[in-house]
Parts: sequence; structure tokens; C-alpha cells
Amino acid sequence: MESRFTATVVRATGSWYDVLHDGAMLRCRIRGKLRLKGVRSTNPVVVGDEAVCEADGGDCVIVDIVPRRNYVIRRASNLSKESHIIAANVDQALLMVTLRSPETPKEFADRFLVTCEAYKVPAAILLSKIDLQDAEAVAEFRAEYEGAGYRVLEVSAKEGRGVEEVRKLLAGRTTLMSGNSGVGKSTLIQTIDPSLDIRTGEISDSHHKGRHTTTFSTMYPLAEGGAVIDTPGIKGFGLLDIDDAELWHYFPEMMRVAPGCRFYNCTHTHEPGCAVVEAVKAGEIAWSRYESYLKILDDDEKYRK
Ligand code: GDP
Ligand code: ZN
Repeated sequence: MESRFTATVVRATGSWYDVLHDGAMLRCRIRGKLRLKGVRSTNPVVVGDEAVCEADGGDCVIVDIVPRRNYVIRRASNLSKESHIIAANVDQALLMVTLRSPETPKEFADRFLVTCEAYKVPAAILLSKIDLQDAEAVAEFRAEYEGAGYRVLEVSAKEGRGVEEVRKLLAGRTTLMSGNSGVGKSTLIQTIDPSLDIRTGEISDSHHKGRHTTTFSTMYPLAEGGAVIDTPGIKGFGLLDIDDAELWHYFPEMMRVAPGCRFYNCTHTHEPGCAVVEAVKAGEIAWSRYESYLKILDDDEKYRK
């Protein structure tokens, strides 16, 4: 006898999928002929998806996906035009950064934020390892990103600072967490929910003795409700389907001043009477954010050639 049910995809490797149904974890395959209409991506079923599953004997097979509320995509690699969906059905994104030990490259941070804007996922920033950071650098960072319109929370998992605020932010929501490796993501998630074993998110399966580092996103349901989607191994975000002419729409601070540009189709690079360039010169828009804008424009141009 066959039964149908829906379950949340918490891990998707391409060859097997872990889904959560009524608190139970099941490992599934996906039906060979499952092809989803719409988005073209290297991965048809992604973390955060609501999967329609069929249990047949001892096997569980994903046969369909409930239409996604949203999703976040990146280019599969710099050299490839294929897209890869990182997660679906997310309520918010948290970008975790450190100014030192290690230093998060600004361009990494800004690409992630642009991606969130483009996919309409509200984003906030966690400034991590605050116990190690230089106060002046912290003030400068806050000015840059709060000036752009983002909420910046200072956290130290080590000293317990900001942890309660993050806990409140996560409760009851599905949160995409991103950060370059070493910023303290696993430590923070584990501090918030000690029942999780983040390290074992490193996948071990029958083909690989022991653990190896996962390159897949994993969803961790939180004891208090809500879930965190951890995205390891993401070095950078390639931007997809974003026209050069539209890139500035995903910099909220540029959106605010651009109505003052002389030309309606201003690219905010070389044009006379550009209100964005004026705002950068006046220090109203952070130079580093504008620099990221130029770098992304430049990269995407190279990529198209
Ligand atoms: P991930 O790669 O982002 O998951 O980073 P980890 O959570 O593995 O942390 C990387 C290193 O930073 C570990 O050695 C942690 O002990 C350390 N770390 C994590 N959070 C803090 C913090 O708030 N303050 C300090 N000083 N170190 C931290
Ligand atoms: Zn302009």
C-alpha cells in the first residue's frame, strides 16, 4: 500500500534527501522523472522545500514539490552559467561577519546582501566575535551598513553577548544563515540550541568512512520553533538574472538617492549630475559599498564575455 504525505526537506545532497515529517527524519530518493517547471537549476529539490512524498514499503520517494514561496539562488560556479538554489521558503537571512579573525571580505558581504534584496528576503547582519573586534572598526562598520539600511547586531557566542537577541530573531522563523568559514556560525547556532549537533552536519554516509565536510545546505529545526539553514562552503554569490542596469536597485541606499540623478537611466558610474556619486563623495553612501557595486558590475561584464 502506498501513502502520500508532505515533509520538509532538511538536507539535499543530489543522491539522497533527508525530510522531516511529524518530527521523524526520513531518507528519501527522488522520483527519476521528477522535473520541476519554472526555475532551471542544477538541483530540483532543495533545503526548505515542502516535498510531496510517497512511502512504498520501506522506501520513501519524493514525487513533487509544493510551489515555493521564495528561493535564493546562486550561480553554480564562476565558470558556469548553471544556477544552484541554496534554499527555498525562507523568512529572513542573517549574514554573519567578522572584521578580523577572519576578516570577511566586504564584497562577499555585499554580494550576499544584493542577493537577498533581489529575492526579497529581509536581511540583517550579525557582527560576530565582538569580544575580539576593535571598537573603532566596529563603529565604522556599523555606520556603513546601518547607513545602507541594515540592522547590525553585535554578538559574541564566547561571552554570550547578543545571543538572546539572536534567539528572539530566530524563533518561529526559517532563517538562512550565511558567513564565510570561521566567523563562528556553528558556535552560535549550537549556543542557541545546545540540543543540536552542528558538527555532525558534516555528512557521513556508507560510501565515505567517517565524516567529510559537507558542501550542502542543512536545515536545523530549533527546539523553540523555527529553523536555521546553514550554508557551508559558499565562498561567494554569483548573481543571476540581474541586469547591470538594475544592479543598483539592490543597494537600498542607492535607491534612496538615485531619484536625484540627472538622467533617468543613470548607471551611477560616469554620468554628470549623478546623485549617487555625489552622495559617495559627501560620505552619505559608504565608499566600500559603492566599490562593491563597481566590482560586481565589472565581474558580471567579464562573466558575459
Ligand atoms: P564557522 O566556520 O562559522 O561555523 O565557525 P566556528 O563556529 O567553527 O568557529 C570558528 C572559531 O571561532 C572556533 O575556534 C570558535 O571557538 C571561535 N569562535 C566562535 N565564536 C566566537 C566568539 O564569539 N568569540 C571568539 N573569540 N571566538 C569565537
Ligand atoms: Zn546616478
